Amino acid sequence: MKTRIIHAALLAGALSSLPGAHADPDAWTAPQEPFKVHGNTWYVGTHGLSALLVTSPAGHILIDGATAAAAPQILRHIRQLGFKPEDIRYILTSHEHFDHAGGVAALQRASGAVVLGSAKSEPVLRSGLPDKGDPQYAGLVDSPMTPVANTRVVRDGEVVTLGPLALTAHYTPGHTQGGVSWTWRETDHGRTVAMVYADSLTAVTAGGFRYSGDARYPGARADIEKSIATVAGLPCDVLVSAHPEASGLWERKARGDFIDGNGCKAYADKGRAWLQRTLAEEAKGG
Ligand SMILES: [Zn+2]
Repeated sequence: MKTRIIHAALLAGALSSLPGAHADPDAWTAPQEPFKVHGNTWYVGTHGLSALLVTSPAGHILIDGATAAAAPQILRHIRQLGFKPEDIRYILTSHEHFDHAGGVAALQRASGAVVLGSAKSEPVLRSGLPDKGDPQYAGLVDSPMTPVANTRVVRDGEVVTLGPLALTAHYTPGHTQGGVSWTWRETDHGRTVAMVYADSLTAVTAGGFRYSGDARYPGARADIEKSIATVAGLPCDVLVSAHPEASGLWERKARGDFIDGNGCKAYADKGRAWLQRTLAEEAKGG
């Protein structure tokens, strides 16, 4: 465990040296009181890493599991809200990095849930080993995750249903090859809105990976450009992104209103700007 924490800190340090990066392991596990986002959707993550609980009388769906170190905090938040981890039927994931999926093994054990990932992320979740075609592979190879039990592949466009709940998977590869964003609808006080859980859209690299062309993941640039366009085009009233601050969640919480019709477009714009910066650095030979 200690080794993994040191590796996580090293990776975060490497990421922090990139312009505009926000990886910080202390912020990742900083405490956060759980709160209602809209309707039956609750924020149960840490201050630095999102996790959402979508509840129903037929059982609950959890989206993302943050780090292994954060899993006890997520379980505490779920109980604090009056829900039972054993009632979680599915754990959905965004992408196969340890800051979003590292806690999933423990959360799966506590709940007995089925864990859903994309065709490319499920093998990483199941084995705990990073994908060799990951743009950050060099920074991940020394920090495997605990292998996750009871995994299943979700298809692009598949609707995951549980009682009254219906969440749609949108493949959004590029940050990793296995990234998924999720959409569903929520009603609160008669107001029905389009909810989005958006995956990371940042072109972050390690080990000399190049988005402008790299045999390790030849489609990286085309994938992330397509995923940025996908997220920009989603019906999107309430947005939560895998890193909450990256999409302005805390500003909206302070305002007391999570509805923002421009949220997904602004978030996509940030991803596009990041990609342009990464490509410009690669063109300079940086
Ligand atoms: Zn990531």
